Amino acid sequence: MPLRRRPDATIQVAIRVGMSLTAVRRDLSFLAHNFVSRFLHACDRPMVSDQEVTSTVDDSVSRGDSDAVTAPNSPISARDRRRQTLLFLCFSTTLAVVAGLWWYDYFETSAIIPEKGDPPGVRFEKLYQANLKGNDSKLHIEGFPVDDSMVSQIAELESLETLIIDEGIVTDEAIELIAKLPKLRQLRLRLSPIGDAGFQQLSNCESLWFLNLPHAACTSGGVASLKSLTKLRQLRLGSKNLDNRAANALTQIRSLRGIHLIGVPITDEGLKKIAAMPYLESLYLDDSAVTEAGWAWLFREYPHLHVHIDQYHHDRDPKAHDHRN
Ligand SMILES: [Zn+2]
Repeated sequence: MPLRRRPDATIQVAIRVGMSLTAVRRDLSFLAHNFVSRFLHACDRPMVSDQEVTSTVDDSVSRGDSDAVTAPNSPISARDRRRQTLLFLCFSTTLAVVAGLWWYDYFETSAIIPEKGDPPGVRFEKLYQANLKGNDSKLHIEGFPVDDSMVSQIAELESLETLIIDEGIVTDEAIELIAKLPKLRQLRLRLSPIGDAGFQQLSNCESLWFLNLPHAACTSGGVASLKSLTKLRQLRLGSKNLDNRAANALTQIRSLRGIHLIGVPITDEGLKKIAAMPYLESLYLDDSAVTEAGWAWLFREYPHLHVHIDQYHHDRDPKAHDHRN
């Protein structure tokens, strides 16, 4: 009955495995002993004796000895010798592979640093690979312009939280890929004329905390689309297509703590709307249309705000401090 033989077969398999393990252990210990003793006593042996031993082994191998043939004056069989040789080769190969992998990894990491003389494509590839390998949360591209194909690759870096691109143009089409980065918190794009279509894409990037687009091309409609970003705290924005209507758009992004507008002609009326935003802590306006009367009103009504006018503090600012320190 097959069911009754099964325990016997299991026991036989176990016995065979045990015998195999015992044989392997014996071979390993003998191999180590033989290797060390040959190494230690090689210098003590007469040259003639070495040659005799070698020629004896070679002769036995060259004769095509079978498992039953034993070399003269040798305590082990030819089969054992072949097994030891195979084991030694296995160890050597494993060690070589491990050393090779370590060597490749070490130099791959060292060679990944971009050089200024490299073409933009090569510099980007090195930055990209380093970021991919390190699973970094930040990528800062400067010194060479990005193009759409590079942006496509950036979109694959799903661990990115901070993306800074200082050169090259990211288009409204390409920014759709950036807006899909699942962890993106900080985005700075210099020189990129992001328009209303691009802002519409960015309004889907729910994790965005700091948006910095000093050279955008959006209108107030594009700014208003950011109201869906409930985590947005800081907004730095410059666009020739923005006017005082931007104030109304900004007040819809109620989560904002800091606003920096560059070259946007905000008037005293617009200033009053922005200053009344519930969570606003800092307001920086460069080249605005606010009058001295408007600033005086602001410092009187909202003395807690940190205000920069063209990157400096107003003389009448109660919170003025030295920015050189
Ligand atoms: Zn300040």
